[in-house]
Amino acid sequence: MNNQIAWFVLFVICAAVCTYIFFRTVPEPADVLYVNGRIYTMDANMSVADAMATRGGRIVAVGSKDDLQKKVRAKQIVDLGSKAVFPGFIDAHGHLMSLGVSKITVDLVGAPSEAAIAVLVEQRVKKTEAGLWVRGRGWDQNLWQSKRFPSHEVLDRISPNNPVYLVRIDGHAAWVNKKALEIAGITRETADTSGGKIVRDAAGNPTGVFVDNAMDLVSRFLPPPTVKESEEAITLAVEECLQFGIVCVDDMGVDSKEIEVYKGLIDKNEFPFRVYAAIGGLGETWDHYTKKSPEGPAKGPLMGYGDNRLWVRAIKLYVDGALGSRGAALLEPYSDDPGNRGLTVTDERSLKQAVDEALNSGFQVCTHAIGDRGNNIILNVYESALKQHPAGDYRLRVEHAQVVALNDIPRFKQLGVIPSMQPTHCTSDMYWAEARLGPSRVLGAYAWRSFLNTGVIIPGGSDFPIENPNPILGIYAAITRQDIHGRPRNAEDIKAYFQLSQSGLRDSAAFENGWYASQKMTREEALRAYTNWAAFAAFQETMLGSLEKGKLADFVVLSKDIMKIEASEIPGTNVERTYLGGKMVYSRSQE
Ligand SMILES: [Zn+2]
Repeated sequence: MNNQIAWFVLFVICAAVCTYIFFRTVPEPADVLYVNGRIYTMDANMSVADAMATRGGRIVAVGSKDDLQKKVRAKQIVDLGSKAVFPGFIDAHGHLMSLGVSKITVDLVGAPSEAAIAVLVEQRVKKTEAGLWVRGRGWDQNLWQSKRFPSHEVLDRISPNNPVYLVRIDGHAAWVNKKALEIAGITRETADTSGGKIVRDAAGNPTGVFVDNAMDLVSRFLPPPTVKESEEAITLAVEECLQFGIVCVDDMGVDSKEIEVYKGLIDKNEFPFRVYAAIGGLGETWDHYTKKSPEGPAKGPLMGYGDNRLWVRAIKLYVDGALGSRGAALLEPYSDDPGNRGLTVTDERSLKQAVDEALNSGFQVCTHAIGDRGNNIILNVYESALKQHPAGDYRLRVEHAQVVALNDIPRFKQLGVIPSMQPTHCTSDMYWAEARLGPSRVLGAYAWRSFLNTGVIIPGGSDFPIENPNPILGIYAAITRQDIHGRPRNAEDIKAYFQLSQSGLRDSAAFENGWYASQKMTREEALRAYTNWAAFAAFQETMLGSLEKGKLADFVVLSKDIMKIEASEIPGTNVERTYLGGKMVYSRSQE
């Protein structure tokens, strides 16, 4: 009897060993084996691999070429030509629809002549279905030789079938074509409106230019964007993101119409992108997802709709305004505007209520807070909400966390709150930020190092279209705290180019190679900001943000190795190819 058991145990052990050996030696099937790259996996150890295999949109192996050639049987081998490869970038704070609308609005700023404008508008007309409006903005006849207002004929030639509506640079005049005049029913009989003027030729015929209040005569016929136009706007925004290597955006403030546009494109398989959407505040869309309806219980968050293309699992709230317009709420008055402490846009009770609702219904909260008072308010709100919702993985976020009182910075770590920051805001605002804040408060502005020292992560974003979406510019800003001209290099630059507050107290060492240079991120940190830290901030760390076995095969191939080149070369680095779920969704060479 004992003998039988012994034989059985031996048999089981042999079977297990044989199975193990069999599966170790039988190569794993893969769609593609990528070789000869410098693959920055962004895993916990910052491992660099030279090969990676993908199957069915996911990574099945990462490691050395020799090893993977033995372990993997791939249908196709792609040589990466020694190029640097990174996980697909994530923009933790952007506005996809706004970027798209800016894309379908023709940018006429700086156009040197009517003819130049006609060329720009014509390109747009060619891409627009007959009958739909074409919009533009930014023309300025003072830049033209004639210096005179233009007329509709120039536009009629390039757009006989699409109404065209072009706003002047200052927003105080519109230039339209004949089709638009027809739609608006404008004839020589149409009277001027009060506070407005219809520009006319010698014979009294409208020339197509409308000044001030007269603009309404045409603009009231501009329809809200159709589903088709919205789809086009989103498609153009996505194209631009992919070109910059962005594979996922945390879309900060969407409504149900935008969500339907995303779903529509996903259902048609025309959405090679990922969006982690935050609902834009309380209201209809929020109620739709969080409130019970006669048909049944609340829907709750939307998770990974369409093969991990769309999440709706956050709400965007606002505490205050922005620093540039002195709307950011400060604890003490603005240094350059005594008596003004900025403004709060949502009262504390409503914020608390919204945070409670979100935590009760499984939604993350992302709150815009720019000034030190704004940040203090939302930290207090989060703190009291967390006391009532103990034990949970909430990852409450503060969007921008731009100016934070030094003693509030450690509270982020203590409360588990994530500061979601935009490095290029720093390098755009640095010229005047100190004038607004003064030499002491500025030490808590864009204070990445102070935050990182407390042990938090900083997801990186651009806040496009306010800033350029290009994450490479964000990475450059994060590691240099200089503009693309390399300024400031030193304290002399600060005197020459930067607006400062009156009181002294500045340490010139603070500006050696960068504005408050001690707050820089390292290259590794900057890359994490746009990869796995951003993934974590959107609960996506098990599928995005690093190139590891089992994760989605989202990655970018760069023209230069941004971990190695001089910082000054980083802004000129291009994305050569972008892959999403193992498929190439952008290639620079095919442009
Ligand atoms: Zn924003």
